[in-house]
Order: sequence, then C-alpha cells, then structure tokens
Amino acid sequence: MNKTVMCPGCGLLLPSTEEQFDERYHASSACRQLYDQLSAYTLSLLDASFPHQFAVDTYAAQHAGTNLKPITLTFALVGLYLACEHSYTGRQVQRAHMFLAKTPKQWPPFRLPDTKATLTVLDVLNVPEQQRIDMLQQWEQSVWRMWETEQAKVAKLVQERLNISIK
Ligand SMILES: [Zn+2]
Repeated sequence: MNKTVMCPGCGLLLPSTEEQFDERYHASSACRQLYDQLSAYTLSLLDASFPHQFAVDTYAAQHAGTNLKPITLTFALVGLYLACEHSYTGRQVQRAHMFLAKTPKQWPPFRLPDTKATLTVLDVLNVPEQQRIDMLQQWEQSVWRMWETEQAKVAKLVQERLNISIK
C-alpha cells in the first residue's frame, strides 16, 4: 500500500511503498530517487560548464545528517559558497574541489541548520527543461540561505585553503 513519507532532509512529502531511508543521505528513498532522476538529466546535458555539480552539492547540503562524511559536507558547502557568492560555474567548483582535496584532511565541524530550504529537488524537476538550470540555481541559493549561520566559517575556510577572498 502506498504511504506518504516525509523526507527528513528537505521535508518533501512523497508517496512511497516502503518507509526506507537512504543510508548515506538524511533522505527518504523516494526523495533520493528524484535526485537520481535529476542527476541523469544534468549528466545527459554534456554541458561544458558542468551544472551537474550544482545538483551534487545542493542535494548533499540539503540532506546533511550524522551519516554524511565531514569531507562530503565541507565540499558541498564550499561548492554552494563559490557558486552563490562568487558565481562559479559547476566546472570551476569542480576544479576548486580538486585543489581543496590537496589541502590537509581536516574539516571543520558544521552545525546542522534547524530550518528547511524553500525549494527541493522536485521544484527543479517540475519546471520545463528550458527553465531547469535556472531553477537548479535557485534551489542552490535557497539551500545556501539555510546554512546562514555557517556561511562565515565556509568563507574563512575557502580563503585559508584556496586563497579566494571573502566577498
Ligand atoms: Zn529530500
């Protein structure tokens, strides 16, 4: 029988046959399936600016829980910061991640937000294809705002490790 299950990360209510939760992300399996759908789409674009990176970072930052590795959360927040505050493309974020991976493997603790973002992966999938990348970026901005109390910490890390100055 179909039940409605709430995703613990983004709050999406989705019909689901089972009350399973994703192991890696703080997410319902139905929400995780939507993310897989969006990923298939962003990867299919073969876009040189690599918007797929926005989807990866935004989904991880919206579904951060105790199971998410500190490195995954740090990389996601750095991606959000660079995209939202410095207008980086996905490809530029990907390059920044490569530099970050060469710095000491110590990642700061981040306090998980107590608010939810206004947009979810479903909002991105629901718009027509020509608006989807724009909506993907709006989703990213809304998740970045959810991390407001940790934004200064992310900016400081980026400045220290990547020498990209705070805006
Ligand atoms: Zn979710």
